[in-house]
Amino acid sequence: MSMRIGILGGTFNPIHYGHLRLGIEVMERTGLDKIILVPNYLPPHKAAPRVSAQDRLAMCSLAAQSCPSFMVNDYEISKGHLSYTIETIEHLQKLYPEAIFSFITGADSLVKSVWHRLDDILERLEAFYVVNRPGITIDELQEKLEELKLLQLEKVIWIDAPGLDISSTHIRDYLAQRRSVKFLLPDSVLEYIRLRQLFVE
Ligand code: ATP
Ligand code: MG
Repeated sequence: MSMRIGILGGTFNPIHYGHLRLGIEVMERTGLDKIILVPNYLPPHKAAPRVSAQDRLAMCSLAAQSCPSFMVNDYEISKGHLSYTIETIEHLQKLYPEAIFSFITGADSLVKSVWHRLDDILERLEAFYVVNRPGITIDELQEKLEELKLLQLEKVIWIDAPGLDISSTHIRDYLAQRRSVKFLLPDSVLEYIRLRQLFVE
């Protein structure tokens, strides 16, 4: 049987338990075999203090080591410039020609992002899973979906999972104030942040 893989993109700046629980919830509810974390390229002016793309990638790898279902792919980061999701999906499909792919996103990302060729993306996917995130209402989501006028709307699947109210923004703020972020992300990632002195001005 073909392996079913869910692609979870994000800036992961830094990766935290909200991301990892998101992956596990979707995997268990939909029967996916694996999750691939794909850290996005980030323009230099948007990067957090001291944090390089290689650091974000390394933190994803450390987090993935704590769960055998997670993999990490550096396609977008290694390009070194903005990359579209459709290109990432095409790349991963070449890399794993036997696999069946889905895409996973939080409701905030669906609503707030500009989606380039979303119908072409849907064409290549088994499903496009949208998971609730505090702060985004069903109405906002509905409005965005109407705006997108998708031809394959049936592939967009809403998943209402109990999430963790954790964000990278919140973690970056705490670190900048030298407050503890323990229990918000894996200890291995925390240790990496400490050693490399990331996110401190
Ligand atoms: P930032 O605050 O910098 O935007 P973030 O915590 O939102 O960071 P991203 O890298 O932007 O993390 O998110 C990657 C993906 O994970 C997005 O689809 C986002 O919606 C989802 N996500 C992030 N945090 C959570 C969470 N706590 N629960 C559910 N989904 C999440
Ligand atoms: Mg975000």
